[in-house]
Amino acid sequence: MIYLDYQATTPLAPEAREAMLPWLAGPEAMGFANPHSAHRPGRAAAAAVEVARDRVAALLPKGGRVIFTGSATEAINLAVFGVDARQIVVSNIEHAAVLDAAAARGKPVQLLAADEEGLVPIDAPMPAGKGLVAVMQVNNEIGTIQPVAQLAAAAHAAGALFLCDAVQGYGKLAVPEGADMIALSAHKLYGPKGIGALWLRDGIALRPLIHGGGQEQGLRSGTLSPALCAGFGAAAELAARRMVEDEAHVEALWHRARALLADWQLNGSADRRWRGNLNLRRDGVDVARLMSDLRDLAFSAGSACASGSGRPSHVLRAIGLSDGQAKSSIRIGFGRYTTMAEVEDACARIKAAAAAQGV
Ligand code: PLP
Repeated sequence: MIYLDYQATTPLAPEAREAMLPWLAGPEAMGFANPHSAHRPGRAAAAAVEVARDRVAALLPKGGRVIFTGSATEAINLAVFGVDARQIVVSNIEHAAVLDAAAARGKPVQLLAADEEGLVPIDAPMPAGKGLVAVMQVNNEIGTIQPVAQLAAAAHAAGALFLCDAVQGYGKLAVPEGADMIALSAHKLYGPKGIGALWLRDGIALRPLIHGGGQEQGLRSGTLSPALCAGFGAAAELAARRMVEDEAHVEALWHRARALLADWQLNGSADRRWRGNLNLRRDGVDVARLMSDLRDLAFSAGSACASGSGRPSHVLRAIGLSDGQAKSSIRIGFGRYTTMAEVEDACARIKAAAAAQGV
């Protein structure tokens, strides 16, 4: 099996797994202690959580704090429901976590339209007065990198706060500048599933979404998992050390795959993109058949969340593709552990399977 779905999730880095193990050990080791307990094992667990928090924060702007959550989806919901915003404005290529959380507030949501390249224009209309603008750093379906710093500045000039879903960019690219809140997920960064975070700029008032014991500075009640925190922290620390190397690696894979599938069209900007993502289309290809013919390749027909629904991707539709074009698109995602031989083998198989369809 060749794994080519790094936007859906990434393998757990061995270093992250190692960092988790002491907190998953048996009864004698005391690693199971509640990090919110005042006794010695509890304080040791709390210290591990704080080391992890610092490691996650090291990749984020100064002047803010990290609130651990169960996922990026939860972090986004905390931001969207927690701020005092009269109006909410989001790009039309956001992940469902942003689109659906914004809609669930029960007030009209204004959409910022991405252009044909999959980029949100920097002069996109901003809400006047108390508003919240949300634009992602890297799109999960087509990999395009949004002009977050300019959009955040425009939101601030209009008096609005800015939320950035940095799930696909965190630890891979420089942190988005200017955001007031940043949502993160460990499992897109070679960390464990089940933990995310919201970075919150100092001075921004937020209402909690989950009530109870008052953990996470009163913003997210519930006992933290030291193992998940430690895994997230180790993954962030590793990503910081390997950022240049990891980027060069996916860059090389991307160019090779693009050359091997040169007769497919690229969806989204060729330049302003994260090269761990290759979203391609070939008109007339039956992607469902392609996927069933290529069961040993784990790639995707759009985002993992949208695929299976049968609905054409809202991102591909937003950048001007027809239903048919959106449905003949595939997403190949690679990362740190993908080899050149795997990419070459996968591309050859995709080519052959498309040729067998006569397209
Ligand atoms: N935002 C983006 C851009 C994503 O790709 C994902 C995951 O697919 C999420 C948010 C949700 O992340 P999580 O799985 O941590 O809830």
